[in-house]
Amino acid sequence: MPLSPDQIAEIEAARATPRQTLRAVSEGMEAHLYKAHEVLDHGFIRVVDYMGDDAAIVQAARVSYGAGTRAARDDAGLIRYLMRHWHSTPFEMCEIKLHVKLPIFVARQWIRHRTANVNEYSARYSIMDREFYIPAPEHLAAQSRVNNQGRGEVLEGGEAARVLEVLKADAARSYDHYEEMLSQEGQKGLARELARMNLPANIYTQWYWKTDLHNLFHFLRLRADAHAQYEIRVYAEAIARVVADWVPAAYGAFEDYRLGGATVSARGLDCLRRMIRGETVTQESSGMSKGEWREFQEMLGAPE
Ligand SMILES: Cc1cc2nc3c(=O)[nH]c(=O)nc-3n(C[C@H](O)[C@H](O)[C@H](O)COP(=O)(O)OP(=O)(O)OC[C@H]3O[C@@H](n4cnc5c(N)ncnc54)[C@H](O)[C@@H]3O)c2cc1C
Repeated sequence: MPLSPDQIAEIEAARATPRQTLRAVSEGMEAHLYKAHEVLDHGFIRVVDYMGDDAAIVQAARVSYGAGTRAARDDAGLIRYLMRHWHSTPFEMCEIKLHVKLPIFVARQWIRHRTANVNEYSARYSIMDREFYIPAPEHLAAQSRVNNQGRGEVLEGGEAARVLEVLKADAARSYDHYEEMLSQEGQKGLARELARMNLPANIYTQWYWKTDLHNLFHFLRLRADAHAQYEIRVYAEAIARVVADWVPAAYGAFEDYRLGGATVSARGLDCLRRMIRGETVTQESSGMSKGEWREFQEMLGAPE
């Protein structure tokens, strides 16, 4: 179960007692506040707090007071302009605080994003729960043949069943030993801070993660991308859905310029110009390496 009964009760109590505020609120975000969105088999993301909305971005950009008299259309246009020209600081005026439950191997990728504030569950202070990420069969895949950092064909039949069995048995055995080492019955019992070293990287941890919208977009750009590992990508996608409701204009600009957009090198731009002029450009005449050319073709949606 992703949320404990205590956590569910806490969320229900918080949502049952709304308070009046003079601060800017985003109606879209209010609908998400405190609620958990399930991710993977035991994980979740939930918004614990936030600051700002689309208007806060515009307000900072104009360094003005309030929304002023300009139409919403102008605000969306200004937000698109800021995104297009990498004028990023107005996006830093919005903040989000998330409670995330995630496997430790996903947390290791996530924590590389240094421009956030993190507070993690302490396995020195508390006993870890017996909860492990076990991939669904369709996510058990072989090493990719073209990408050293990715997966390829899905494992089938006996091989998939054997892998699943190994994952489950190893997790259970490690946790049994963890409990055994902690046990004080007739022995001193090993300290929690030491016993935890026997736990596998697919055990779940939890943290509070706070960041601003600019750095969150950077995180989403890298982790909601098709090249990101599936297990972190699903978290990024869940967050992206919340952000789309929180700051619809900013998210729309981000989706257009960053998620759906592409960066083209000077060589790539030169190839595009030559193509528009009707020239047939090949990898050999492009000045690009094979890998660059493959990615360039992918970007253009050209058939392989
Ligand atoms: C597909 C993929 C594969 C990856 N593979 C690997 C891998 O094999 N091994 C590995 O170690 N990592 C890997 N990473 C992690 C990657 O190198 C980055 O560490 C991670 O994506 C965080 O990005 P960031 O540093 O831009 O983000 P943040 O830490 O949030 O920083 C945001 C921006 O702030 C600036 N910044 C922050 N801190 C500093 C600093 N100390 N000095 C200068 N500028 C700073 C930079 O401009 C940075 O882009 C991978 C990431 C992805 C998405």
